[in-house]
Amino acid sequence: MDDYDPSSMDAEIAQQHILNSVTPVTEIETVAVRDALHRVVATEIRSNIDVPGHTNSAMDGYAIRSKDIPAQDTKVFNLIGTSWAGRPFDNSVQQDECVRIMTGAAMPDGTDTVVMQEHVQVNDKQITIDAKQQANQNVRQAGEDIAKGDSVFIPGKFLQPADIGLIASLGVGEVNVFRKLRVAFFSTGDELVSIGTPLKTGQIYDSNRYTLWSMLTRLNAEIIDLGVVKDTREAVEQAFQEASQQADVVITSGGVSVGDADFVKETLEKLGEVNFWKVAMKPGRPLAFGKVNGAYFFGLPGNPVSVMVTFYIFVQAALEKLMGQPPRKRLRITAKSASRLRKRAGRVEYQRGIYSIDESGRYIVEKTGAQGSGILRSMSDANCFMFLPLESEGIEQGDDVEIWPFESFI
Ligand code: AMP
Ligand code: MG
Repeated sequence: MDDYDPSSMDAEIAQQHILNSVTPVTEIETVAVRDALHRVVATEIRSNIDVPGHTNSAMDGYAIRSKDIPAQDTKVFNLIGTSWAGRPFDNSVQQDECVRIMTGAAMPDGTDTVVMQEHVQVNDKQITIDAKQQANQNVRQAGEDIAKGDSVFIPGKFLQPADIGLIASLGVGEVNVFRKLRVAFFSTGDELVSIGTPLKTGQIYDSNRYTLWSMLTRLNAEIIDLGVVKDTREAVEQAFQEASQQADVVITSGGVSVGDADFVKETLEKLGEVNFWKVAMKPGRPLAFGKVNGAYFFGLPGNPVSVMVTFYIFVQAALEKLMGQPPRKRLRITAKSASRLRKRAGRVEYQRGIYSIDESGRYIVEKTGAQGSGILRSMSDANCFMFLPLESEGIEQGDDVEIWPFESFI
């Protein structure tokens, strides 16, 4: 950080600096498996069992010994019983015998192959099978999903629905996870009013707290919403005190750009160590990052699109690290731009686009209308960022552009 210029901060350097500055939470709690959805695994989960526990049938059909499959034409097998899912057939199967078997039922002793019921001819207790059958077909091997002793999840895994099912399949009912991250946030600005109050001239509804709340909820943080804070020295200082005492991370929106009442800066200088940057990016130029009373602090710009862009670009990866997750590689795709994109060199831009796949299977992307940093509709209509690098001077219609699908931010 020695040789950076705070008045023209490179977005990637800012990102790296933020990531390197944060230390993950270490406290662990034990939760029921269902409550572990969207939590981060804190201790390795190993399997005490094979999944599936027994070699079983993948189809409804007939279990046979593969060595009895006819070399040519057909062969008649004697039906000697049934294996149901959860109620196995107890005897072993001898030469040219077969057992009716249901999907998920354990393979009877001696058998290794299942013939689909659609591929046999049934005549009372006689089953005719042809030569087209393959040895070991339609059988799931014991332990083929997970073998006993396997490591299933290591610390840092952010648990998704399939993971919760996988843990349940091991018979594990409780999971050790890192405690939730506590994130406090508030908005600053005398023009902001909360929903439920009619607007007077010059006032606007506070939308940033709602987008922040939504992005934080999706990350499963514990949220402390401190509301709208008036542009006075006392109110701002009190809000920072309250937020930093309760939370690991404090996020504000508004009040970090030049021309804003200066006491946000003054208060932060008094209570903490904060860097104020002008990042070479659009939208989202002003950004403050540091510590306030031991809590990490992100001062995001006030404009509604800037809040979202700076959250996705700077805050989210830091929060993921704080929650105990390893860095995530996010999806980047090259798409053909259906729009001409104007841009000045010397800053990165995150324009908003709608990507889709054309008739020939190629990704194409079109920009969402006006791209002003106050126009939240441009984010709401979009499903990706169109990323334009520092040196780019815009692109023509038909040029390639890198897109960052929003799904990859979940
Ligand atoms: P600021 O960074 O405080 O100068 O704000 C920049 C712009 O964003 C101004 O037009 C503000 O009215 C607007 N703004 C600031 N905070 C919010 C908020 N919480 N919700 C919606 N707009 C906001
Ligand atoms: Mg303001």
